[in-house]
Amino acid sequence: MSSEIPAESAFQAVADRVWRAVAEPETVNIGLVAGDDGALLIDTGSSPEQGVRLRTMAESVAGVPLVAVFVTHDHYDHVGGLPAFADLPSYGHEDVPGVSEPFALVRVVDLGSRRVELAHFGAAHTSSDAVAILPDADVVFTGDLLESLQPPQFGADSSLNGWLIALDSILSLLNQQTILLPGHGEPFERDYAFDQRMRLAALLGNLEYLRQRHIPIEDAPEAVEWPFDKATIAALLPLAYAQQKQRR
Ligand SMILES: [Zn+2]
Repeated sequence: MSSEIPAESAFQAVADRVWRAVAEPETVNIGLVAGDDGALLIDTGSSPEQGVRLRTMAESVAGVPLVAVFVTHDHYDHVGGLPAFADLPSYGHEDVPGVSEPFALVRVVDLGSRRVELAHFGAAHTSSDAVAILPDADVVFTGDLLESLQPPQFGADSSLNGWLIALDSILSLLNQQTILLPGHGEPFERDYAFDQRMRLAALLGNLEYLRQRHIPIEDAPEAVEWPFDKATIAALLPLAYAQQKQRR
């Protein structure tokens, strides 16, 4: 056995018949939700082999058969295990390649005396983000729209304006007891989600300030106070400047 095979933690309970495992190498959260008749796996890990291992673990923990999987967006650490679930319905936004139950806005998965609501709030972290809402357990799986392990990860298909709108949509679902499970990192409550929304709004405010004053990208890191660390901002600026050009 090679020691380089990415590992997975055991599933641990986070709410009534709701569990989380953590899968390497990206420290991604894998969710598991069981109803009376079946269970849903949320995100599938980074590889088919990891998907197989997660499936075995999930089926022994859930106490009911795994009846479907849902992927929160099309990044490899979330969809890489999908081939291990080819015999089950796989739910995801229609921009995720290879899901068998694609949707544009919303879907409901009935697990027996428990439903999971899947919703897409527009392009944000990627064009394909969707969240899983468990009304009875008051739990929301946010994918990478929110993260507690690291700052939000901006990529070529991120939409900065859209991200703020998506976070406002998530915030509108929450109360003080809601548990949020991010794509990466420990579960958290509403206050943390508000804080990340506030930082993202500050980021957009900074970018607008730079745009209005025609500040070149090379001066941007020092021109304002940024709400995220230097590496995050360095990765974000080329994308943000390119998106501003497109809008003009
Ligand atoms: Zn991602």
